[in-house]
Amino acid sequence: MAEVRTRFAPSPTGFLHLGGARTALFNWALARKEKGKFILRIEDTDVARSTEEAVEVILDSLKWLGLYWDEGPYFQSKRLEIYRQYALLLQEKGLAYECFCTPEELEERRQKTMAQGENWRYDRKCWNLKEEEKEKLRQEGRKSVLRFYIPPGETTFIDMLRGEVHFQNEELDDFVIMKSDGMPTYNFACVVDDALMKISHVIRGDDHISNTPRQVLLYQALGFPLPQFAHIPMILGKDKTRLSKRHGSPSVTYYRDQGYLPEALFNYLARLSWASGEEEKEIFSREEIVERFSIENVTKHAAVFDLDKLNWMNSVYIRQADNKYLCSILEEILVRKGRIKPEEITSAHREYWEKVIDLMKERIKYLAQLEEEASYFFTEEVEFDPPAFEQVLGGEEVEEILKDCEEMLSQIEDFRAPILEEAVREMAEKRGVKAAKFIHPLRVAVSGKKVGPGLFELLEVLGKEKVIKRIQRAKNLIKEPRFPQNSGGE
Ligand code: GLU
Repeated sequence: MAEVRTRFAPSPTGFLHLGGARTALFNWALARKEKGKFILRIEDTDVARSTEEAVEVILDSLKWLGLYWDEGPYFQSKRLEIYRQYALLLQEKGLAYECFCTPEELEERRQKTMAQGENWRYDRKCWNLKEEEKEKLRQEGRKSVLRFYIPPGETTFIDMLRGEVHFQNEELDDFVIMKSDGMPTYNFACVVDDALMKISHVIRGDDHISNTPRQVLLYQALGFPLPQFAHIPMILGKDKTRLSKRHGSPSVTYYRDQGYLPEALFNYLARLSWASGEEEKEIFSREEIVERFSIENVTKHAAVFDLDKLNWMNSVYIRQADNKYLCSILEEILVRKGRIKPEEITSAHREYWEKVIDLMKERIKYLAQLEEEASYFFTEEVEFDPPAFEQVLGGEEVEEILKDCEEMLSQIEDFRAPILEEAVREMAEKRGVKAAKFIHPLRVAVSGKKVGPGLFELLEVLGKEKVIKRIQRAKNLIKEPRFPQNSGGE
């Protein structure tokens, strides 16, 4: 069997969309499974919309997901001469022709046809132009495009997911293959490249299915063998419309920045429209995915993006992950959010963050949640939730309670959770009150919140110095007549 060669061919006009990432993943997985090659090609012939920044973002996102390519990236913008040669070949064979119609003329004729209730297709006005006529138009300064002549008949191809797909050629019009600026169009450059790069399987989103008959006709005209095609279903939001910003961010970078693990997003995207046949199994390593992957097992219906499921999956991966690894991700988040500068980070910071992670990893869905919802770990002082402050620290004896806590905790040298717990319970018993009487105010004093991880573990992670300082601050604040956050700072 010939070598399996797959490719991912993004247009660098923005970030890497989750749909694109899943397309890349399937192409990558098939190449790995069949010990073939995965090729990366940047389709950047739309000069107005392509940016270098987008190329960077796409490459970074692919690398982050571990979707490394074996060849490329090839840039179409560097291969223009190749497309010109093949365009010339088609022209010489009489399968492509110059068209001088301006966009305004085309629009006018389109309107007229539509007004008569008919569908517009290019009317082949320029098909039979004689050489002198063309020359005259050139003299007038008219620019031309190159159109591909669609032969009569029917075009059929096999889609690995849908079986035979038929298109009536009369539904297609003589589409442009080379634009007036000398750039190839997508359909043309794609076919030339897929053929020259010996791509065996074209796996792409089913939004491209209407391009495929045009491409098949080009393969035939150029005398290239056809690859296998698989058009995979779109990713939809829960409301069954195409996944877009309205459903939360559809970009891979967003998930990376929020502290999703690449292994988890990889697993999620793979499972989004591919089933291995093992009913209960959701968690797959990359190796397991490669081992089991086949296009036949890709689902035919549209996939629905479910953030809850991704969150669940990510939390599973977080729980299993090594703290050092999670810490490196958290570190990036803290730097990005301006909590710390990279040059300020010390091994003591890392040691502390690892403890935070160890305490919190069972409770979070993504790592940025720590910075968003448990910022008290990363700030000098606590920001109080207004209801927590009012309800828990608002009572009469709270000042007394906090004073007792401060005194008692100051005396503890070995600041570890079990010892702290014992001390607090002992103190409560001595005073003849429930431990909760101390636990709640302590929690709000050190974290600003009513809920969080186990209090004694929290105290241990924060450390004696911070805990005492925070208790003192809370004590002072409750003496003030107004709530601290409304008082214009401390
Ligand atoms: N550049 C095209 C896109 O980003 C590639 C489509 C294809 O895979 O043929 O949609």
